[in-house]
Amino acid sequence: MHQLIIFGPPGVGKGTQAEIIAAKLDLEHISTGAILRQAVSEGTDLGKKAKEIMDKGNLVPDEVMNGIVKETLSKISKSGFILDGFPRTVEQAEALSAIFDELKMNSVLVINLTADENEIIDRLLKRGRSDDTRETIMNRLKIYFESTKPVKDFYEKKGIVIDVEGVGDINDISEAILAEINKS
Ligand code: AMP
Repeated sequence: MHQLIIFGPPGVGKGTQAEIIAAKLDLEHISTGAILRQAVSEGTDLGKKAKEIMDKGNLVPDEVMNGIVKETLSKISKSGFILDGFPRTVEQAEALSAIFDELKMNSVLVINLTADENEIIDRLLKRGRSDDTRETIMNRLKIYFESTKPVKDFYEKKGIVIDVEGVGDINDISEAILAEINKS
C-alpha cells in the first residue's frame, strides 16, 4: 500500500502532482484544501467556519483538520493514498503519526517539492483562486515558513523525506516523483 505525503510551500504544485500520481498508482488523493472548499461550497457548518479563515490565508484549527483526516484515512479503499495539504503544523504531524499507528500504516514516504520563493509567488498570482490575492499569498507564505516548514524537520528526523525539484515540466516532475517512489 502506497502511503504518501506530498509536502512543500503553497503554489509549488502539490495538488497537480498529487492528482497525477494518484491517477497513475490508483491512490486516494486526499487534499484537505479541496475537502474544505467543498464544505464551503455546500455551506455546511464546517464550510461556514472555514471560509473566513481560508479567505485570510490562515490555518483551520488542528483539531478540526485532524478529525477530517482521521475519518478519511479510515475509509481508504484504493491501493493507498497521497495526502496533499496535510500536515501543515507539527501538532498535525504528531496527530497523524498516532493515526498511522492506529491504522497500522507504517511505510510512509514524504515527497518534498522544492521551489524558489519568487517562482512560487508568481505561480500563485497567476492561479487566480479566490484566496490568491497578494495579501493572502504573503500571509500563506509567512504561515508556511513559521508553522509548516518545521513539519519537514519532523519527518527529516524520521528519515522518510525525499526531495524533488518542483520547477520544470509537469510530466518530468511526475516522472521524478514516481522514480523516487519506486526506489523506496
Ligand atoms: P490548499 O488548497 O492546500 O492551499 O488549502 C487552502 C486553505 O485551506 C489553506 O490556506 C488553509 O486555510 C486551509 N487548509 C488546508 N489544509 C489545511 C490544514 N492541513 N490545516 C489548516 N488549514 C488547512
